[in-house]
Amino acid sequence: MIAEIIAVGSEMLTPHRQDTNSLFLTAGLNELGVQVAFKTIVGDNISHLTEAGRIALGRADIVIFSGGLGPTEDDLTREAAASALGVELHKDPDTIASLYKRFAERKIPMPPNNAKQADVLEGATLLDNRNGSAPGQYLDTVLQGADGESHRKIVILLPGPPKELKPLFTEEARPRLAASLPPRHIATRMLRMALIPESTVDARTAPIYKEFTDINTTILAGRGEIQLHFECAKATQEEAQARVDELTEKIEHEMGEDIFSAHGESIEEVVLLTLEMRQLTLAAAESCTGGLLAARLTDVPNSSRTFIGGAVVYTDALKTEFAGVDPAVITEHGAISAETARALAEGIRRKTGASLGLSITGLAGPTPISTGPDAGKPIGLVYIALADGEDTQVKQVNVIGDRERVRLWATQHAFELLRRYSL
Ligand code: ATP
Ligand code: MG
Repeated sequence: MIAEIIAVGSEMLTPHRQDTNSLFLTAGLNELGVQVAFKTIVGDNISHLTEAGRIALGRADIVIFSGGLGPTEDDLTREAAASALGVELHKDPDTIASLYKRFAERKIPMPPNNAKQADVLEGATLLDNRNGSAPGQYLDTVLQGADGESHRKIVILLPGPPKELKPLFTEEARPRLAASLPPRHIATRMLRMALIPESTVDARTAPIYKEFTDINTTILAGRGEIQLHFECAKATQEEAQARVDELTEKIEHEMGEDIFSAHGESIEEVVLLTLEMRQLTLAAAESCTGGLLAARLTDVPNSSRTFIGGAVVYTDALKTEFAGVDPAVITEHGAISAETARALAEGIRRKTGASLGLSITGLAGPTPISTGPDAGKPIGLVYIALADGEDTQVKQVNVIGDRERVRLWATQHAFELLRRYSL
């Protein structure tokens, strides 16, 4: 089933007003599994409106008009929809009565043109509008197409003011639509991976997910992470879930340990969880990330069970004072070196009594270092070390990008080192 939305109103053909109703309607239709294939904006002109209605009925199964249901001369949607459909309008007595009542309550006589708000498309159901005077209309009908075949068409008329249209769609039109559409249940899944190029993930997974034509797959990349999103709609939840599970299993088989999460958890949550399962505690000495690693870890509730703390050791002096680094190591190799990273990780572990000590030291830029042992080292050079008391792993990475990216990716690399260690 495809839909067309016709936004009625000359004001939306000026630079001053925008059609936002169709965005709201599109979201609601998509949730029902209906794709919006066309959107049209038409001015308050009877022949243009009728033409738009005819075109829409010729190419969409569901046609929703928004606006033009008021009492004034330029409110022409009812008339246009009737001619496009080839049906008559008749006056609904209950609507006339309620219009008279509305005016009586306000103690003013009803101007005669208001009665046109009671014009109903032959065969349509009126949708009660609690927030305004013009009711909506819902018509489920069969039309003879240009091909000579019969086609089912659903035509919905809704008032233009968003505070009338939204409740009317949600409370009246949407349930009717849902009831006339085939049942649809959606299963979704997200797989998350860190530090792998998007193109690599796509090259390895596309041959698999392309086979699942009934699953909508999206790859999202950003902040040192790749996400694979799957969405599948079926008549039953079980069927949809089974399909998504089948694809997930195949992708997991292909990507293996590169996948850090298959249930939505962030990498910091996964790291904390796996360390906790192994009853390990962690402390960190951070230089170029300035506490970003600690901040990301402590964003997770209950992280104190695993992450006991650490130090931001920006200057050489504090690297020695807080993490016990031998000043000679820094003088000889520089603060941005494998040796200093190793000494920082081992030192913070010793000082804090944590089972694991982690360190990050690097050059986030943008200014290069011109003197001393770190002179000439490239921006983005980062060393990460992980000490467990027996062994110390040191990883060198070269992050390309600005200061923010270097710092973020440095923490991402640190989390990957920790995750793979604890696997
Ligand atoms: P009324 O009885 O208020 O005249 P109506 O159904 O005739 O209702 P319109 O006259 O087309 O609706 O529009 C009334 C107001 O609703 C517009 O001035 C505008 O503020 C808002 N509106 C109409 N259409 C849209 C739209 N597509 N997106 C956002 N706002 C809209
Ligand atoms: Mg109007």
